[in-house]
Amino acid sequence: MTLAAAAQLEKTPLETYVPPAKPSLIGLSRAELAERLGHIGVAPAQRKMRAQQLWNWMYLRGARDFSEMTNVSKEMRAQLGEHFTVDRPEVVAEQISNDGTRKWLLRLPSGDDVQKAHEVECVYIPETDRGTLCVSSQVGCTLNCSFCHTGTQRLVRNLTAGEIIGQVMVARDRLNDWVDRETPNGNRLVTNIVMMGMGEPLYNFEAVRDALLIVTDNEGIGISRRRVTLSTSGVVPNIIRTGEEIGVMLAISLHAVRDELRDELVPLNRKYPLKELLQACRDYPGASNARRITFEYVMLKGVNDSLDDARRLVQLLKGIPAKINLIPFNPWPGSAYECSDWDQIEKFSEYIFNAGYSSPVRTPRGRDILAACGQLKSETEKLSVRERDALRAMAMTD
Ligand code: SAH
Ligand code: SF4
Repeated sequence: MTLAAAAQLEKTPLETYVPPAKPSLIGLSRAELAERLGHIGVAPAQRKMRAQQLWNWMYLRGARDFSEMTNVSKEMRAQLGEHFTVDRPEVVAEQISNDGTRKWLLRLPSGDDVQKAHEVECVYIPETDRGTLCVSSQVGCTLNCSFCHTGTQRLVRNLTAGEIIGQVMVARDRLNDWVDRETPNGNRLVTNIVMMGMGEPLYNFEAVRDALLIVTDNEGIGISRRRVTLSTSGVVPNIIRTGEEIGVMLAISLHAVRDELRDELVPLNRKYPLKELLQACRDYPGASNARRITFEYVMLKGVNDSLDDARRLVQLLKGIPAKINLIPFNPWPGSAYECSDWDQIEKFSEYIFNAGYSSPVRTPRGRDILAACGQLKSETEKLSVRERDALRAMAMTD
């Protein structure tokens, strides 16, 4: 399918969605692959070797069909094809921003009602020295940060490991970015992964972990742990686990330096207030001056952007190997905030810089296709205040 054709794809009504008849092997670990091979009668002595072959074809070379797997016997390929696929999530639409950012809308089967589908978005941001893929972890989000578009969407469900790694595979497919395929300059295009799409990754810990272990596996997608960043709004108990079990770079959505304001902007703060959050950062395994924790700070006009806030921010982060990422607020239809004036962002940034922190301002990318931070949302309906409160209460008690 050409890019132009994909860009014109229309969403078909969700009711007509037909779920795949055979399960995909995408997302399985080596051990799980071996187990599935056992289910279809592969002899125990062969399972490990066959699983490794599948692993290479799927995650290193991006095979889209068993017929591509030329070092696997014909009979075995036929047998695999009878029971399984290596399908990724279906691409429903592709949008290309005038700055080169691409957004894919992916369709996934719904967990409980097989006739309905769910949708999720994933964004590729090309820069001169890297290409970053922003990956989603949930359909919607249980949390309701007041400045975030995704937060207005009902949580529908957690993504599976296959649907998370599937986003990376779709990007490599669409960009022709697999190991033995041609790319324009011979380098990989997707060089960095950020778990900053829809959803709170640490409320879907196991699936995110399993997917990122495939992303960072040398014989898999092969992206170094240092080039993978997981962003959390502050699910404290799973922060340490992220360091211990995944070992990727950590980003914290801080956005406010006092509990009172953070309670409002990031309601999860009522459950895990600043003090506990910052202690978890101090304890984060592997953090060092060479591997700093990123603190994300969205610039909201007249809300959190005073020089007093900047001062307090520097105080709070004392003793933590940190860098600060200022994010100009990206507006979305119906949002209650405005982005700080550029002047003020510069003053804020300068204060932090003078205090010794690197403080890049994140250039908004893909705003024209609603692909920038916090703009992702796959369903259009907005929740009523009562529904939001109910969701919030749910999130606070689990
Ligand atoms: N749920 C995770 C990861 C997804 S959000 C988290 O909250 O960290 C990725 C980043 O975009 C977070 O720092 C989030 O706070 C920020 N963000 C959300 N809405 C935004 C908006 N409208 N403008 C700018 N940044 C936003
Ligand atoms: Fe969820 Fe993150 Fe958006 Fe908050 S900022 S609502 S945690 S996606």
